[in-house]
Parts: sequence; C-alpha cells; structure tokens
Amino acid sequence: MSSPLSDPNASTPHRHARAYTRGVEPVVFDVADGITAIDTFFGGRERYTAAYLLDAGEPAIVETGPATSFEAVVGGLERLGMGRSELAHVVLTHIHLDHGGGVGAIAERFPSATVWVHERGAAHLADPARLIASATTVYGPERMASLFGPVTPVAAGRIRALRDGDTIELGGRSLRALDAPGHAKHQVALVDSRSGAVFTGDALGIHPPDVAILRPATPPPDYDLESSIATIERIREQARGATLLFSHFGPVAEVDRICDLASERFRRWTEVVGEAMQRTQDLEEIVAILEDVAREDAETGAEAALDLQRLETLSSIRVNAMGIVRYWTKRREREGSREAGQPS
Ligand SMILES: [Zn+2]
Repeated sequence: MSSPLSDPNASTPHRHARAYTRGVEPVVFDVADGITAIDTFFGGRERYTAAYLLDAGEPAIVETGPATSFEAVVGGLERLGMGRSELAHVVLTHIHLDHGGGVGAIAERFPSATVWVHERGAAHLADPARLIASATTVYGPERMASLFGPVTPVAAGRIRALRDGDTIELGGRSLRALDAPGHAKHQVALVDSRSGAVFTGDALGIHPPDVAILRPATPPPDYDLESSIATIERIREQARGATLLFSHFGPVAEVDRICDLASERFRRWTEVVGEAMQRTQDLEEIVAILEDVAREDAETGAEAALDLQRLETLSSIRVNAMGIVRYWTKRREREGSREAGQPS
C-alpha cells in the first residue's frame, strides 16, 4: 500500500512503519468505567502514546496513532473483540500525526466508522497534503517517513466536524467536545458522560507515567500561551472528581495538581524563551536555554535516572522552542501594529 501523498524522497515508508510493531503483542489496559487504553507503540516506545476504546452501543476509539501504529492499534482492538464492522466511531483530539496520522488506514479497516474531528481539522483529513507539508517542514522527510509512515485521506462523506459543545452519541454514553486551543487551533478535549473522564489530547502537555514528569507541548505553528492557560482551566473545571486521560500517556487522577503544574510550566517555558529572545536570535542558543529548564523540571519532578533523550521523539525541545519563538514573534507583531496604529 503506497500513498501518492507520501514523500517521494523517503524510502519505502511502509516497511519502516511495520518494523515498529511487528511481533509486538498488543497491550491494552482499563483506565475508567468502560474505557480501555491501547498502547500505540508510537516511535517504538511503550507507554508513550495511547488510543482509547469506549465500550458502548456504538463503540468508539479516541485517537488512532500514526500509520506506523496501525498494527498495534488494530491488534489491540481485535484483542478487545472489536470486529471490522462493529467499530462505529473514530474520534481525534487533533490532527497532529502522532494522534491521527493513521486515521485513513483505520477508517479503511473499519468501514462502518464515522470519523470526528475539530471543524478546523476536517478538511485536512479529507486532503492531507498541507498537513504532510507542514509536518515535513518540522521533522524533515526522513523522520516523517520513519516516525509516522504514510498519511492517507479519509473519504469526505465519513468525516463529521466538531464544534464546541457538540455531542457524539455512542448509545448508552456520549462524548462532549470542548474547544481546546493552545497546543493547536484544531484541538478538542472530550468529556465522557459515563465516567466523567476527560480526554486531554496534548492540552496539558505530555506526561509519560514511567518518568512521572510533565512537559509542555508548544509546537509551531499554533502554540499560544493565553489559549493554553484558558484550556487548562476549562479542563480542570470539567474534570473535577474524575480522571484525565492523556494521549501521552494514560490516566491521571490528581486533576488540580496536574493542572497547576501544566499551567505553571507552560508559563515558565514561554517566559524563558521570551527573555532569551531579548538577548539572541539564534535558535540553537534558545534551544540550549530551554533544555536547561527542561532538565531542572525533570530533576524536581521525576524519579531518578531519567533519560531525557527518550522524550525527544514526543516532545522535542527544539520543536517546542520553535513554537514559543513563533508565539512571541506573532504577539510582538500584533502589539507593534496596535501601537503603530494608535493616533499620536
Ligand atoms: Zn501529541
């Protein structure tokens, strides 16, 4: 299977893709009432990126992982007894490729499933050319192919656009979409009616449980501090007494603690980069400064022997730095043009 949209310079992306999950036993575990996590083994790593199956009259998965996770996700769904014609809904928190790059392949495999995504993301699932181009500028063609594999389109007729407050009826339970910008403009958080659990996407950053740290996720082109903080507070309000389900990775019960930490770290990382930009334009210097901050965060928050390199696939400091630089550049342009427009 080769996609006309995959990068022509990349060598056999699908063979790369298969190498990650070949021979890996599917890993599934319960996280809330009628919700089961499936490890997508994204980037060949365990316990870093999840898809979730919701048990209901019309079963749904939240997130598909990239095409490189196809076998792990389908293997997990099969282990959970999900037949080809049974899966009724596929819901993405956002269209970044680690979350939804494999949606075309999953939609093909489960032909009855309706695909739900933020209204700003819908067109990109039907025609992923711009999404691929944008991710390629961030990752480069080789890492694009090896990390994510081919990105195939979803038939437009199967896609439903989500707006804030929309509800997806699953039969016996439902998912309510919350507009959740900050990490990306095309992100929704999802509230499960039965358990109260909230799927956070990347709104609170990433929280790999085996290293117990929380790292902001601030990629270009959309990252915006004010939207991120507002989204974190909305999620906090919705999730009181319930569980947060991170795409990276798994359930977190201490809602206030993790929301406080996320909000503090998004602010701090953004301020540190803003200050650095007063002194230098050099991205390498800015990356080095942010790396120091990330190391401090890890030392204060984590168990011993943390290997920061392991986080680079999910949340590269360079990509985060690029996103924050872009945020400040846009913000200063905005403020500059406002000042310039004022009568003297
Ligand atoms: Zn992500």
